Amino acid sequence: MSLNPIRPWRNIERRTSRQIMVGKVPVGGDAPISVQTMTNTDTSDVKATLDQVLRAAEVGADIVRVSTPDEASTRALKEICRESPVPIVADIHFHYRRAIEAAEAGAACLRINPGNIGDERRVKEVIRAAKDHGCSIRIGVNAGSLEKHLLEKYGEPCPDAMVESALEHIRILEDNDFRDYKVSVKASDVFLAAAAYQGLAEATDAPIHLGITEAGGMIAGTVKSAIGLGNLLWMGIGDTIRVSLSADPVEEVKVGFEILKSLGLRTRGVQIISCPSCARQGFDVIKTVEILEKRLDHIKTPMSLSIIGCVVNGPGEALMTDIGFTGGGAGAGMVYMAGKQSHKLSNEQMVDEIVRLVEERAARLEAEAQAAEAAAQ
Ligand code: SF4
Repeated sequence: MSLNPIRPWRNIERRTSRQIMVGKVPVGGDAPISVQTMTNTDTSDVKATLDQVLRAAEVGADIVRVSTPDEASTRALKEICRESPVPIVADIHFHYRRAIEAAEAGAACLRINPGNIGDERRVKEVIRAAKDHGCSIRIGVNAGSLEKHLLEKYGEPCPDAMVESALEHIRILEDNDFRDYKVSVKASDVFLAAAAYQGLAEATDAPIHLGITEAGGMIAGTVKSAIGLGNLLWMGIGDTIRVSLSADPVEEVKVGFEILKSLGLRTRGVQIISCPSCARQGFDVIKTVEILEKRLDHIKTPMSLSIIGCVVNGPGEALMTDIGFTGGGAGAGMVYMAGKQSHKLSNEQMVDEIVRLVEERAARLEAEAQAAEAAAQ
C-alpha cells in the first residue's frame, strides 16, 4: 500500500511477509488483504454449497473455505472447485486421507495442522499431494484445541503456547521443503488472539490469516472482530481475514470488507457516510439509508456517498465524498457532486436520483478503467 504524504495519520505500514498463492489469489507480500468466509452447508450437497459460495463471491469473498469431514464431502469438492468462481480451501481435521482427496479434487488450499495427522509417512503423503496439485496449506492454530504437551507446559492457552504450536507445525512443513503456507493463531478472546498474532508476526515471515474465532452473533461478533482484527490490521499485521459470525457467510464477507474499508486497506462498492439523524433532519435519514444500501448493493466500483440530514454537517461531509445529499427545508435538499453544490432535489425524487447518479458514475469509471487496461495491452 502506498503511503499518504498529505495525511500521514492515515498510513498503515504492513508487515513484510512473503507471498503465496491460494489458487489465483495472492496472499501476503503486497497483495490486497483478501476476505474469506466459510460455508455452513452440508458439503456433500453440491448445489446448496455452491449456491452459498456464489452468494459469498457476489458480495466480494476472495476465497471460500468448506469443511470436508468425510469422503462424501471430498467427492463433492470436485464439482464445487470446478464451478466456484473463487479458490476453495478444504478444512480438514486429523484425517490425512481427506487432505489427499481434497488436493486431488482441486482444492486451492488445505487447512490442516501437519502435527495432528499422524506419523511421518502420512505427513509426507499429504505434503506430496499438496505439491503435486499446487495446493497451499494453512496452519490453523486455535486456542481451544492446543496440543496436550503445550497445555501441560504452559498450564493454559496463552500467546506463547499458540506461537509455539504454530512454529512446530511450520517446522514440519519446512523440514519437508514446503513453503507455500500461511498461518493463523485464533482465539475467541481478543486479548489472547491479538497477543498471539503479534508474537507470530515476529516469529515468521509467512503470510498471516487473521481471525477472532467463534466471535458470536451478528452484532457482538462484528464488534469483537472489528476490535480484534481492526487493531492487528492497524498495526500492519494480517494478509487475509475471516470474520467468524453465527450468521450467514454473506454477512461475514460484508463485515470483513467494512473493517478493511474503514482502515483504507481495501475499497469496494459504495461507502455511505450518513448521520444518525435528529430533530433537524430534512428527510427520514434512517429509512433512506436502509433503502439506498439495498438498491446500491450491486455496485462494485468504489465510491463514497454522503447522506446527511441537514446543513449542520451536510456540506462538510459532501466535500469529502464523491456524491452527497444534504437535507434542507420545505421537503427538498441539495445534491453535491465532488464536493460542489449541483442541484436541488425534492425528497420524493431523492432515492431514485441518487441511485441513478451512482450507477452513472460507476458505469463511467468502469468504462475508463477498461479503456486504460486496453491501452496498456
Ligand atoms: S447532520 Fe443534522 S440531522 Fe444529522 S444528526 Fe447532525 S444535526 Fe441532526
